[in-house]
Amino acid sequence: MLASQELEVVIGLEVHVQLATRTKLFSGVTCAFGQEPNTQVDVVSLGLPGSLPVLNQRAVELAFRAGLALGCDLHLVSRFDRKHYGYPDLPKGYQISQYEAPYCTGGGVQIHTAQWGTRFIPLTRIHMEEDAGKLVHQERGPFSEVDLNRAGTPLIEIVSEPALRSPAEAHAYLSELRRILRWCGVGDCEMQEGSLRCDANVSIRPVGESRLGTKVEIKNLNSFRGIEASLAFEIEQQSALWRAGRYAEVVQATKLWDPDAKVTQVMRTKEEEADYRYFPDPDLPPVVVSQETLDAWRAALPELPAVRAQRFIADYDFSESLAGELTGECEVADYVEALIAAGAPPRLAANWTREEALRRHGGRGHAMSEASPVAALAEIIQLVDGGEVARVVAKEVLDECLDSGLPPREFFSQRGLIQVRDAGQLEAWIAQALADNPQVVADIEGGNHKALGRLVGATMKLSAGQGDPKAINAALRTRFGIDG
Ligand code: ADP
Ligand code: MG
Repeated sequence: MLASQELEVVIGLEVHVQLATRTKLFSGVTCAFGQEPNTQVDVVSLGLPGSLPVLNQRAVELAFRAGLALGCDLHLVSRFDRKHYGYPDLPKGYQISQYEAPYCTGGGVQIHTAQWGTRFIPLTRIHMEEDAGKLVHQERGPFSEVDLNRAGTPLIEIVSEPALRSPAEAHAYLSELRRILRWCGVGDCEMQEGSLRCDANVSIRPVGESRLGTKVEIKNLNSFRGIEASLAFEIEQQSALWRAGRYAEVVQATKLWDPDAKVTQVMRTKEEEADYRYFPDPDLPPVVVSQETLDAWRAALPELPAVRAQRFIADYDFSESLAGELTGECEVADYVEALIAAGAPPRLAANWTREEALRRHGGRGHAMSEASPVAALAEIIQLVDGGEVARVVAKEVLDECLDSGLPPREFFSQRGLIQVRDAGQLEAWIAQALADNPQVVADIEGGNHKALGRLVGATMKLSAGQGDPKAINAALRTRFGIDG
């Protein structure tokens, strides 16, 4: 182990995703976000003696959907275990989780980074478990309060192999995981709301070494930026010790990321590690899913975002980055394809979605097609594409047009915004413009082709803005025998 050897970074992530169920994992009480503390509790989430857990079948379906979307091996029989630890956010004194026999193993996520290119990150396993409650620490005063709304909320924990090579890869992995799970409706995956949480494990080793180095686990990561920054910080700490010939001083530990101070702080070391005393939960029978049910769930899986992106490239000739952008959210991809199906040329459907439909959608609250009805926007795009409405004009009055509820052609025609392309009418305006501007005509004939713009302007003016400037330009060029 030479201090000068080149180092390799090794990262593995443990990601918790809240399943998009209405109710908790083992009881019928709701688990919505942002409710008054302790309003979503019942005997089961409080862990009262005599209460019995009943497994939420919808949670099982969503958990399996995640496994199917990530190409994992799904196990028809799995089991719940009790994981014991003492903390006030856990009234039962144990968390129900899957330990020995998780429902899902294998699979993986394909990621891309500038440094490492495209790589497949294998998963170790996915298991189902319940969330704990939350402690609210008073700023002053001797008390902490506990909110048990979250206790018993259904989660899956997705554990990756130690295969990520940089903070950027960790970011790419997490964001691809998020895209897939949101796409399939497994969960919202909102880090700020805690429906996507991540613990990051990191170590270093010399390039070529196959044994893993001493790992540090970083907890309390609640933003993409925090994950990258904390990993970079920890990697630098470990590398500095390595370079100083003091690698033995890296201690296996669990650390907390402090986003304000931008440092990791030791929470506990291996010696203090809890003994969870796992054993099968005697109150819960094994989770059994029939092959027919699994097949039906597999068949119901939507076309996955990466596949959809490839199809966008093949079918519509979109660039890699445009296809990636439009497949970030299922709703956006669906919207673009609905515009195309309604007659909008693909490239324009993409542009108008990015520039207008997403702006009008504003991110949340209502469906994209509610904010911008597909048929109407497709018609506007076609009017522009056919030269009947000028693009700038269409953009200017787009909101008015869509909000009016009128069929777009009717709206533009009422406003006198349909461009006249009728050749006879255009010719008449052009003839008038030529007669009105003999000097300009002489200039152009004398070789000053730039003066053509003034005739286009004069003709547009005569048409009261209704002439199609492109058609007028073309007609004038023909008249003067100017190419292009
Ligand atoms: P623990 O038993 O401490 O939870 P696991 O073996 O279950 O550790 O691994 C937890 C996570 O840490 C996994 O994502 C795994 O890929 C990752 N991991 C394990 N060892 C290392 C290591 N030496 N360096 C980086 N990541 C690691
Ligand atoms: Mg662990």
